[in-house]
Amino acid sequence: MPGQIPEDLQKKLTERLAFYEDLGICLFYSDRREIETPPTEPSQQSAPTWPISTATLREEPILPKTHRNPDFQKAAAAAPPKISPPPLPTAAGPSLFDATDKIVDDTLPRIREDLGECTRCKLHKHRHTIVFGDGNPKADLVFVGEGPGADEDAQGLPFVGRAGKLLTQMIEAMGLQRKEVYICNVVKCRPPENRTPEEDEINTCSPFLLRQLEVISPKVIVCLGAVAAKTLLQTNRGISHFRGQWLEYRNSKLMATYHPAYLLRNPNVKGEVWKDLQKVMALLGLQARKGKSS
Ligand code: URA
Repeated sequence: MPGQIPEDLQKKLTERLAFYEDLGICLFYSDRREIETPPTEPSQQSAPTWPISTATLREEPILPKTHRNPDFQKAAAAAPPKISPPPLPTAAGPSLFDATDKIVDDTLPRIREDLGECTRCKLHKHRHTIVFGDGNPKADLVFVGEGPGADEDAQGLPFVGRAGKLLTQMIEAMGLQRKEVYICNVVKCRPPENRTPEEDEINTCSPFLLRQLEVISPKVIVCLGAVAAKTLLQTNRGISHFRGQWLEYRNSKLMATYHPAYLLRNPNVKGEVWKDLQKVMALLGLQARKGKSS
């Protein structure tokens, strides 16, 4: 029939859309910086500056999907059938870290050396600079973002654009300096047009992130946005289901919160993020910078 999509193409499109849904992208072709769903009941508060002390918490519908990463699928196959979604958003079976080769006496310079002038995935074709990570290699607190944007690609440093400036303000509001924490991303090369990194790119690059986290072994990991959270927690559940809750990643406490780029577009959720960061501050014994509301 004219206009009908061939079956194999339809199957491929369905799989691809499901993969994007797994990553939390509900609006197809939306900018990756808008992937988190805005609150169902927008806060009355306008929040033009950082930080804000009040917020409205929100819920969103569960994504009833299984992860399409083959390792996750293997793990899921090994697990007993589940009638309802698990209470914790982590996948059953071996962790992503356990599936990765362990390196004895690893160091950040060695990881950077192993990364080399990486051509392992298609992201290398458009990048200018690999953005490995930056900050204190012995940090108690690590922030993990999604992937470099244009400014980061140009400078070779994470979070140096508009979202990065907001992240720096957030860090300083927590009573820290940027150089005291470590900042890195799930993928080390800029995805073209700032699109969300694809599954194969995440799978190829994330072992380097896992090695970085293993070497730094921070007390707390803050995942900025859904990609970082979903990668480390091996979950397909939307970030709003576990944002602001203490979770665990190996020997570190993990807190997932919204990406600063999302906050630039949705300043009304700054209060929610500030609440998440206050939990991190309490755990690390940090005092808010003077002059900031708490
Ligand atoms: N967004 C990210 O996720 N990482 C960066 O380094 C910059 C913007």
